[in-house]
Order: sequence, then C-alpha cells, then structure tokens
Amino acid sequence: MLIILLGPPGAGKGTQADRIVKNFNLAYISTGDILRKAVKEESALGRKAREYMDQGQLVPDNLVVEIVRERLVEPDCANGALLDGFPRTVDQAVFLEKVLPETKATIDRVLLIEVEENELIERLTGRRVCCDCGANYHVKYKSPKVRNVCDQCGGDLYQRDDDSLATVTERLEVYKKQTEPLIKFYQERDLLYTIDGNKDIEDVYEQINDVLKEL
Ligand code: ADP
Ligand code: AMP
Repeated sequence: MLIILLGPPGAGKGTQADRIVKNFNLAYISTGDILRKAVKEESALGRKAREYMDQGQLVPDNLVVEIVRERLVEPDCANGALLDGFPRTVDQAVFLEKVLPETKATIDRVLLIEVEENELIERLTGRRVCCDCGANYHVKYKSPKVRNVCDQCGGDLYQRDDDSLATVTERLEVYKKQTEPLIKFYQERDLLYTIDGNKDIEDVYEQINDVLKEL
C-alpha cells in the first residue's frame, strides 16, 4: 500500500504524516527529510542538493528518484508507506509508476491538501523544527510549552533556512509550475482525494482519516 501526500509547502503534510503513519502503521518517506539529513552529514548527495534547496528550487529528478527507489525496498516498507514530498514533478511520478512492480506496492490514494496562499506564507515563516527529533511546531498555531524547546525530547527548535520569506515565495512558485501538474496526472488515474487544509490540525486529520479508513 502506498499513500502519497501532495500539496504546497506549508500545507501541513509533515504534521499530518506523523499521525497517519502511527495510526495506519506505514513507513514514512519524506524526501525533504532525507535530503536535509544528507546536507547535514555533508554526504556526496548532500553537497549536490544543498544549492538547490537553499534557493527554494527542486533537487534534480535523477538524484531524488534514486533515494526513493532504494528506500521503497527497505523492510519497513513491506506493510506500506506514506510518501511526503515525492513525487514533485510529472517525471518523478512516471518514474514511480515504473519502479512500483519492483516493490510490489500499488498507489492507493493521493491526498491533495489545499491551503490558501496567505496562510501558507504564515505557516512557513512561523514554522520551527526540533534539531534533534525533527518534531514540528509553529510560533502561533502549535507552540511548544517552553519557548524554543521541543516538548517531545527537550531539543532546541530552529527555523529552516528555506523558511525565510524570500525562499518561501520562490518555493510556492516552483510548486505552481512544477508540482501542480500532478493534480491532473492523478485525477486522470482516479487516485486524487482533495482535503481542505485550511482547517485546524484535528479537522484536517479527520478528513484524511475518512478517506483512509475505507482501505
Ligand atoms: P509541509 O510538510 O506541508 O511543508 P508542515 O506540516 O511542516 O507543512 O506545516 C507547516 C507549518 O504549519 C508548521 O509550523 C505546522 O506546525 C503548521 N501547521 C500545520 N498544519 C496546520 C493547520 N492545520 N493549522 C495551522 N497550522 C498548521
Ligand atoms: P520539503 O521538506 O518537502 O519542504 O522539501 C525541502 C526541499 O527539499 C525542497 O524545497 C526541494 O529543494 C527538496 N526536495 C524535497 N523533495 C523533493 C523532490 N521530490 N524533488 C525535488 N526536490 C525535493
């Protein structure tokens, strides 16, 4: 089983993913998280990806598809996986269809989380992330109990470099040009389910749960 989370940066994909993987027992695959780890470790992949990520551009398809191909055959994916932030281009989606027979998985649902643009900017510029466990917060909407300290592990919270206003604006443009065509791609395959992401975190999860509980 494969579930894909589609939607602009800041729509709440990572926030919802956390609950989805626990409740539906799925492996979590976030290409953004994998790439950020590679950048931090200064691996060959990280060195190539960094400049694109800093500028709010997509990392070239050939680098990203290899990450996903290798990740999908890991043992924890046997029960199914949740893809967050992949595919992000039509070429990546075509690649995924081609490698699926190798992994014996099928795409069951593509959840498109839609959010108004002003709200996306507010969410991204106010996002804070734990440097140790990666837990996700927001200065207004999901603030930690102690300022800049993670509720879960006590780690320091930081602001992602690409969550500055200038880079956020670029990332939203990139989404429109390169990722939005996937909406039609998955509509044509009858896999697309639209979720109203403007609601609060609980409400959004309820909508997602309604779609996934049928599986
Ligand atoms: P994405 O993974 O799609 O880029 P995130 O899940 O990281 O988005 O969410 C972006 C920011 O918005 C985070 O700071 C998160 O805490 C906050 N957020 C997520 N969902 C909601 C929501 N429904 N209402 C308000 N804030 C939200
Ligand atoms: P995210 O954490 O999903 O917001 O991704 C952060 C950044 O990682 C993006 O702005 C891209 O530079 C890069 N990235 C993540 N996933 C992909 C992907 N599927 N294709 C290309 N670049 C990606």
